[in-house]
Amino acid sequence: MDKLTVRDLCVKGKRVFVRVDFNVPLSGEAITDDTRIRAAIPTIQDLLGRGARVILASHLGRPKGEVVPSMSLGPVRARLSELLGKDVAFVGESIGPNVEAAIAKLEDGQVLLLENVRFHKGEEKNDIELAKQFAALADLYVNDAFGAAHRAHATTEGIARFLPAAAGFLMEKEISVMGDALSDPKRPFTAIIGGAKVSDKIKVIENLLEKVDRLLIGGGMANTFLMAEGYELGKSLVEADQLDTARKLLQQAEDSGKALLLPVDLVVAEQFAADAPNRVTDLRGVKPQEMALDIGPETRRQYTEAISTSQTVIWNGPMGVFEMDAFAHGTNAVAQAVAEVKGTTIIGGGDSVAAIEKAGLAYRMTHISTGGGASLEFLEGRKLPGVEALSPKDGGNR
Ligand code: ADP
Ligand code: MG
Repeated sequence: MDKLTVRDLCVKGKRVFVRVDFNVPLSGEAITDDTRIRAAIPTIQDLLGRGARVILASHLGRPKGEVVPSMSLGPVRARLSELLGKDVAFVGESIGPNVEAAIAKLEDGQVLLLENVRFHKGEEKNDIELAKQFAALADLYVNDAFGAAHRAHATTEGIARFLPAAAGFLMEKEISVMGDALSDPKRPFTAIIGGAKVSDKIKVIENLLEKVDRLLIGGGMANTFLMAEGYELGKSLVEADQLDTARKLLQQAEDSGKALLLPVDLVVAEQFAADAPNRVTDLRGVKPQEMALDIGPETRRQYTEAISTSQTVIWNGPMGVFEMDAFAHGTNAVAQAVAEVKGTTIIGGGDSVAAIEKAGLAYRMTHISTGGGASLEFLEGRKLPGVEALSPKDGGNR
């Protein structure tokens, strides 16, 4: 990686402003899933262990520049203290004299959590004055918030213009694993794209088609491709306005000699319901009152075969309505096949990750991306402002 990382920083006695992604789901004051807090612990522990004075900043929810008490990071402070096994200071603000005083009191190896940075209007506007105020709190900047790296905000981009700026361990892993897979994959390289809509993922498909050997399409978006090929799909979810896009992508695959696989059979039902009676049909057998809710068994077999003979696999989007057990077989079969791949396996996308976790297979993947929107933009081949803003590798202070 050509960017500075925490390893390149000498941090003893230094004030280090660390942007983390503590945007956790809350029910009242209870954190219902602390994955994101745990994901930032290695970077925080490393800095504290090396005698840094750590200042943590994050957003939570969408307070739109107002102080919204239900989106305070207060509840995160308690959980973070438990995970770190040490007290975490908190003053309920993110800039101003109280924050400065709290930082002045920090000793080497101590940590302060700032309040939700989106309580300030300038955060999402990437206001340069606000960015300067944040930068003035610290000597060094570390960004470990991959999930927010696709946004150019004051604490993800602006601040990096004023301090030596390094990637945290989580950020480093995200960009190196996904970056290596995209730039220099072991082949065969297979991408599996599913989920509800083609329109959400056109750019991902376009970009991956240039890089992969095989592209497998499933889920609701496969319906639009099948319709573009002339099949009738009854009441299935189809994006009629995306038929031309689907045709263009099919043509792109053909022109470049890539294998683009579509379902050859489907699981259909008359209602979008967990207990709806369902059946398997070939592509010509979908009745007008039926909808396709999963890939069928022959498709599962073909996709499993394509995956199991691959050395690099990227998966984004479930193969069916996996939230309902009756329509989760396609997604589970793909999850199992990806788990058994010997090479590099990367999962991005909130629902695909949920499906893999539900199947108990998360631990068998090389990398599960923590950033939904950010990993999608990465797979689209776009540059992420939070990554671009980091200092070049030779800009360390060691
Ligand atoms: P991810 O979060 O992994 O990127 P998406 O958000 O794009 O995935 O899509 C996930 C959603 O797509 C799920 O809620 C799933 O139920 C839905 N879905 C998958 N297949 C179908 C289908 N055949 N018909 C309707 N919805 C589908
Ligand atoms: Mg989703």
